[in-house]
Amino acid sequence: MWPRLSFNRPLIWLGLCAMSAILWLPSVSLRLGAVVLMAVALWDGWRQIKLEQRRARLTEQVMRQSGEAVMITDAQHQIQAVNPAFTELSGYELTEVQGLSASNLAAARHDSAFFERFWQALTSTGHWEGELWQRRKDGNEYPMWLEVQVISDARGHPEHHIATFTDISLRKAREQDLRRIGREDPLTGLPNRFRLHELLSSRLRHLRAGESLDLALIDIDGFREINESLGVSAGDRLLARFGKRLAGHVAGGVVGRLGGDEFMVLRTTTYDDHEGWIEGLKAHLGEPFQIDGSTLRLGITIGSCRAPEDGDNDGVLFQRLESALVSARRRGGNLCLRFRPALDVSDSPNLALLNDLREALAQGGQLELHYQPQHRLSDEAMVGMEALLRWRHPRDGLVSPAEFIPLAERHGLMAPLGDWVIHQALTQLAHWRSRGLPLLPVWINISAMQLFQGDLEKTLATGRARHEVDSHWLGLELTESVLLDDRGGDIAPRLERLRDLGHRIAIDDFGTGYSSLGYLKELPLDKLKLDRAFVKALPHETADAAIVDAVMAMARGLGLEVVAEGVETAEQRDYLRQVGCDEVQGYFYARPMPAHELEALWRESVSQPLESSSRQAVA
Ligand code: C2E
Ligand code: CA
Ligand code: CA
Repeated sequence: MWPRLSFNRPLIWLGLCAMSAILWLPSVSLRLGAVVLMAVALWDGWRQIKLEQRRARLTEQVMRQSGEAVMITDAQHQIQAVNPAFTELSGYELTEVQGLSASNLAAARHDSAFFERFWQALTSTGHWEGELWQRRKDGNEYPMWLEVQVISDARGHPEHHIATFTDISLRKAREQDLRRIGREDPLTGLPNRFRLHELLSSRLRHLRAGESLDLALIDIDGFREINESLGVSAGDRLLARFGKRLAGHVAGGVVGRLGGDEFMVLRTTTYDDHEGWIEGLKAHLGEPFQIDGSTLRLGITIGSCRAPEDGDNDGVLFQRLESALVSARRRGGNLCLRFRPALDVSDSPNLALLNDLREALAQGGQLELHYQPQHRLSDEAMVGMEALLRWRHPRDGLVSPAEFIPLAERHGLMAPLGDWVIHQALTQLAHWRSRGLPLLPVWINISAMQLFQGDLEKTLATGRARHEVDSHWLGLELTESVLLDDRGGDIAPRLERLRDLGHRIAIDDFGTGYSSLGYLKELPLDKLKLDRAFVKALPHETADAAIVDAVMAMARGLGLEVVAEGVETAEQRDYLRQVGCDEVQGYFYARPMPAHELEALWRESVSQPLESSSRQAVA
């Protein structure tokens, strides 16, 4: 861009007048005056040009040095200047694009409505910011973050557009990785449990007349011993090979890994040869495996069922597969068993547990809430806690929530169980307040069933009113799968209402599902809880570290706070602090504990620095 002489300076006009006046002014002295005036005007003009040139050079230098790609267009959006960073990003030199319309560079991924909104924002606010796909000179398309600013002249007419681009393909790829990680078993590359549910539902939906589904749940006998004697890495290799062999055998079907040594297979079929198919699977997997020079012949236990005969939704079918497998195992393993309704009733140990849970809910007294502190990383202060449910079974002792919560969910007990948690947490908060303890927010876990079957909003409202506790003190943790579950309709307005009531909302186990940035952006959330699976291998596992970095960037972009779970070492804490994580929770600070222990810790932390008191709590 060339420097221009600005004609709105009075000296220029005076100089021009003086030039013509030299010819007709009557006296020499007046002419001399006009000459002087002209000289001053010329000098001012020259100075102005120099100044403009210096400004232009400075702008050019800034453009050249900027790490961000910059493009300047005129009001008609025709390209006038680009900087070297732009050339590096797009492959285009200035000479190749000068004068072209900037829209020529966009990839053909956006519809006319998109550009309409773009222009509307630019005209009304003078600014636009968002994601846009661009095409490189080599034809490749890439996503970028674009910021456009309109530069107007003195009268407010748009003169130029300045566009700044940031390449976000890396971030996008990480998002995609995150999505994939949430649905794929990293060891075998096969679909994981979450994905298997999706695939099964989809197959069920597309089942045509005369078609059935054969399903099998496969378990390797004595895998733990194999792991112990050969070592974990050989065990992993065996699992990977096992998965590969299985996938090769059931072409056209679906093979996935549920976790540990459990695999699942399903196929759509028009034949009724379920038993033959299962025997075939067993025989194929019973062929020896070569691992580290030794030959391994595996015992295989299979639980199986068929749809639609044994059930027509994925939840029921999974449950029936489990119960068939459990029965087969209890008969000594190395055997195939097809689901029979009788297995579900008499054989399932879950049924007894379920009855006991009903009893526990009716009686009260066996259920407890434990609390795990959450610490702010900037100063280690305890800033909140997560409430975790505990069931003290009269005969079996403490039963893990991981065991009884899924059971409660499947059998309609989750709504009353969830209500108990809400009332208990509020009672506790009211109790702490009455004892003059400084209140800290308590975060409770909310199950999908509470949203779909129970009346969460009403329970919260009655509880708050009864205990006179403000909603601000009770945060709600919902997992990604709950947020993505559309059984209860659109979740966003429900979250919006809960938030209007004053509850804060956290997305739990983040990273294990497959929420996309776009989806999260739509939801009213306050916090993101990074799943402990990612924290576990920090800081040495580079893949996990990269995911943590990506999550932090994502959270920052969305304005969410991040709490990392499962922090067990000082190294993990330091890494998380360094990447800007806000809060942490984990055994490094304290295990979940009953309310009275937490109170003691609280009192201690008032009299001692927190760092040492929390370490004592771990010990
Ligand atoms: P979650 O919400 O992810 O809870 C965190 C789990 O991680 C807890 O297991 C906690 O004890 C454990 N944990 C905390 N710090 C560490 C650590 O440093 N290392 C390791 N390895 N683990 C750590 P817990 O209490 O067994 O709960 C398991 C799951 O059960 C919870 O996972 C949550 O999904 C569910 N749950 C627990 N209480 C409730 C409840 O009241 N309602 C609902 N709906 N679900 C609950
Ligand atoms: Ca949680
Ligand atoms: Ca969690």
